Amino acid sequence: MAAEVHAFQTEVAKLLKLLAHSLYSNKEVFLRELVSNASDAIDKLRFLAITKPELLKDDPTLEVKIRADRDAGTLTISDNGIGMTASEAADALGTIAKSGTEEFMQHLTGDQQKDSQLIGQFGVGFYSAFIVADRVDVVSRAASAGPDEAVRWSSDGSGTYTSEPAHRDGRGTDVILHLKADDREFLEGWKLRETIAKYSDHIAVPVMLWTEKTEEKKEGEEAPKTTGAWEQVNDAK
Ligand code: ADP
Repeated sequence: MAAEVHAFQTEVAKLLKLLAHSLYSNKEVFLRELVSNASDAIDKLRFLAITKPELLKDDPTLEVKIRADRDAGTLTISDNGIGMTASEAADALGTIAKSGTEEFMQHLTGDQQKDSQLIGQFGVGFYSAFIVADRVDVVSRAASAGPDEAVRWSSDGSGTYTSEPAHRDGRGTDVILHLKADDREFLEGWKLRETIAKYSDHIAVPVMLWTEKTEEKKEGEEAPKTTGAWEQVNDAK
C-alpha cells in the first residue's frame, strides 16, 4: 500500500516554524521531550499490564534506547511502551487536540531559556524534534497490534506528513531523527551522555545509550575492530 499524504492542522504548521526559530540556542530540549514521551509511553503500558499481564510477556524489560548512526546521520529514540495505532499516530502527531498550541504561541517571550520550558508545559513536545531534524520518521506498533499492523509516519515538518502500514517486531515506538547538517553533534556519544544526564533525573525507567568502542588495531588486522553495547546513562533502577 502506498503512503498516504496528509496536511497538518494549520496550527501545527505554524508551530513548527516558530519552534525552529525561537529555540535555536536551546536545541537540546528536543531530547528531554522525546525521552519524556518514551517514558510516558512505558508508564501507560505498565498501567495497562496490571490488568493484562500478557502484554509484557514477550518483552518484559521496559526501557528507553537511544542510538546514533553516524553513517546515516540519524538519531533514534526507541521505547517498548504502549505504542500507537495508525489513527492514534495521526491524531497525536498531526493535530493538536488541546488548545495548547495557540496558547503556547501567545506565551512565547523571546527568551529562549523561558520558552524552552513552555514546550513541555503546553503539550507540544514531540514537535521539538524538528528543531534538529529535517525529517522525522516514527515507526510505532500498539501493544494490542500484530507485527504487521505497525505504522510508519514521516514528515519534513513543512506542512504535510505521510502515513503507511509498516512492520515492527515488538510493541513500542521508534522516533528516527534525520539530523540537520548543523546538528550532527547529537550523533556524538559525549554530547548525548551530557544532555541525557542533564535531563533524565526524573526519568524512572532506564535510559540506554548504544556505545561503540574502537579497539586498538592488532597485528595482521586490516582495520581496528569496533564493538558496541547498550549502556545505562541515567540512575533509574
Ligand atoms: P504530550 O506528551 O504533552 O501529550 P507531545 O507533543 O509530546 O505532547 O506528544 C503528543 C502525543 O503523541 C502524546 O500525548 C502521545 O499520545 C503521543 N506520543 C508521542 N510520543 C510517543 C511515544 N513514544 N509512544 C507513544 N505515544 C507517543
